[in-house]
Amino acid sequence: MKTVDVDLGEDAYPILIGGSSLPEVGEFVEERLGRIDGAVITDETVDRLYGDKLAGALEVAGHDFERVIVEPGEESKSPENAKELYEKLVELELHRDSFVIAFGGGVVGDLAGFVGSTFLRGVPVIQVPTTLLAQVDSSVGGKTAVNLADGKNLVGTFYQPELVLIDPTVLNTLDPADVRSGLGEVLKYGLIWDEELFREINKNQALFEEFDEPAELERVIARCCEIKAEIVTEDEKDRGIRRILNFGHTLGHGIEAGAGYGEMKHGEAVIWGMIGESWISSQRGYLSREARKEIVGILTGFDLPPLPLGLTEDKLLGYLRQDKKSRREAINSVLIRGIGGETTVEEVKDAELVGAWNYLKELGVEEE
Ligand code: NAD
Repeated sequence: MKTVDVDLGEDAYPILIGGSSLPEVGEFVEERLGRIDGAVITDETVDRLYGDKLAGALEVAGHDFERVIVEPGEESKSPENAKELYEKLVELELHRDSFVIAFGGGVVGDLAGFVGSTFLRGVPVIQVPTTLLAQVDSSVGGKTAVNLADGKNLVGTFYQPELVLIDPTVLNTLDPADVRSGLGEVLKYGLIWDEELFREINKNQALFEEFDEPAELERVIARCCEIKAEIVTEDEKDRGIRRILNFGHTLGHGIEAGAGYGEMKHGEAVIWGMIGESWISSQRGYLSREARKEIVGILTGFDLPPLPLGLTEDKLLGYLRQDKKSRREAINSVLIRGIGGETTVEEVKDAELVGAWNYLKELGVEEE
């Protein structure tokens, strides 16, 4: 079992990473919070696959809890669902010391985290992430959210969990596109922070195909959590360095929206986005041509889904402006100066974004 500490003073918490650690969740919760009652919020798919296992672990440790199940998918991250969950928690007579366990991917993590952070002004939240994306990214750092019709993640809180427990063996049942989506975030950590990690992932892509004996993968997940923890510790509220975690996300959001939400996974769009933003970095002379070529070669080797080639430049820019982060300001992007090297967040011009989009389209067409 590996432990990564998120060193946030009063809000500090551990991330525990271990293959087949799910049956021990009850004990970890007891160690951290005592023997208490609460609710497990999960989605139908995760409940069907692993609900009994988690429930068994909590029962053995003597916790009193109910399972609350939402439908899988982004639509569940809604204020309407949050309200239903509040009502359910009232019905279960949860109190301020009761736990909420978020058991699922990023959708469940964001929704249950949001509900847990606001119900009774905040109850202890435990994240048990079950997708690669959630294990390396969304369960760590305390961002919670629900979506509005106007856009994703428009309502949310910063609220740190009490504990994050990661069992990589559950990734065995994950759809390959969801694995690739998580991989996008792993590659991002490599590109913005850790050259060795980036090269290791490239050399050892098999790490993400077989999850029964995940010692190596545990190390990679722990490294990602360590990087995120370090960045979040420095900038919990996303006003400075935390923004570098958005590498690939500016263009990525536009491509994801252009494909139609649900058609391309978030992290897959981020991989395309990182290629485009590397291109902008090299056009500005920040990133050498050789480094850019190497990055593009590696990232396009990950069996990416096709780009939405019908997406016009105007539509792409429209999507980027709709993004809440750029609605009242210029469009910003993370630019890199090498693999795992220096990064900056800078305003980018429409012409640069269009140039990057055209570059991607050429790559996409060549690939087919
Ligand atoms: P998701 O939660 O929708 O999970 C993807 C699919 O995998 C779902 O159908 C789910 O039921 C299924 N699933 C989950 N675990 C499984 C398992 N072990 N085996 C088989 N199927 C499984 O999607 P996601 O990619 O995990 O998360 C995306 C969400 O995360 C988005 O809403 C995004 O906004 C959010 N996010 C939040 C942060 C943050 O910092 N809070 C960061 C990045 C992304």
